Amino acid sequence: MHSLISRSSIRRLPPSLIKPRPPSRRALHLAPPFLLDDYVPRHMTLSSVEASKKRSAAYAHLRNCNLCPRLCGVNRFETTGMCLIGDKAKVNVIAPHFGEEPCIQGHNGSGSVFFSMCNLRCVFCQNHDISHQRNGQDLTPEELGDWYLKLQEVGNVHNINLVTPEHVVPQVALSILHARDNGLTLPIVYNTSAYDSLASLELLDGLVDIYLPDFKVWEPATSRRLLKAVDYAATARESIKAMHAQVGDLCFTGDGIAKKGLLVRHLVMPGFEAESAEIMKFLAGEVSRDCFVNILEQYHPDAHVGKPNTRSKSASAGQQGQKPQAKEIRYAEINRAVSREEISTVRKAAEASGLWRFCDPPRHDGFSI
Ligand code: SF4
Repeated sequence: MHSLISRSSIRRLPPSLIKPRPPSRRALHLAPPFLLDDYVPRHMTLSSVEASKKRSAAYAHLRNCNLCPRLCGVNRFETTGMCLIGDKAKVNVIAPHFGEEPCIQGHNGSGSVFFSMCNLRCVFCQNHDISHQRNGQDLTPEELGDWYLKLQEVGNVHNINLVTPEHVVPQVALSILHARDNGLTLPIVYNTSAYDSLASLELLDGLVDIYLPDFKVWEPATSRRLLKAVDYAATARESIKAMHAQVGDLCFTGDGIAKKGLLVRHLVMPGFEAESAEIMKFLAGEVSRDCFVNILEQYHPDAHVGKPNTRSKSASAGQQGQKPQAKEIRYAEINRAVSREEISTVRKAAEASGLWRFCDPPRHDGFSI
């Protein structure tokens, strides 16, 4: 038999012993308003008139390429600009990929297409064997679109994930239009450095479902030295705002797979916590406090970082057996991994700015993708 206890009979603890409750946390993935009943990819709802306008715009951009912020103005059917890629996209790898965020890769993988080359020249590029080298196969937009269909039908992947596509946006737009005319029903992920122009994002409007930009550094002096693009942060700010205006905050269907919206990545760099904090303030203040953010911890010296500085006289002495000094090493200031403290500082800055949707392991005991 249950005994009834009146509320007034419960002994009250003195206020000093009552622990404040932590603020209630909304579930990141499946709570409204981020839960979708169902989702139809945007390319499937495009009218035939809108599709042919996009086709014409894509060919016009290829004939006079000012599509990314490098503004080369070249005819890509005849020559190449700074990205060194002509009218055909060069593709390094096409495969179901399991190295993305759980909500992007799901159980079956993300159908990833890794494009060769890039319109940035990051000295620390974590993917430099693909992004700095012209290795791979040249594919027409139609051949590329046929691969999306293979990924859908054979790979049973959750989405088509276009990795480093900023310099092949016309080819990408044409390939999506070809694939949707031939039965593509998967959402499109645009996995970018954020060094995109507003014109290229306009061409992608209606074709892309998830924008996955990486916001790297904040200060122009830093981006000039490390990315070889002084206007990187200004460009990334405008492009990320435009991406959010198109697709909004990241939303999921009930299976926990992201279907539409913005997911911003930020790779924490050694010694750059102050710039990271500015990026977090910008995202919370000028994009959305509900912006989904993945703070990446895996920075490691790569590409040109830590290589001998061949212009230095003593570097050649280093090659003869002596240990090179810091100034004889290229980009010595980022020639180390990030520390736990640096990562924690960036996370705290993100929370202090008001962001709350992070790519964290689940807090519950159930399965999670
Ligand atoms: S996409 Fe390539 S050719 Fe076109 S403006 Fe950018 S770097 Fe130049």
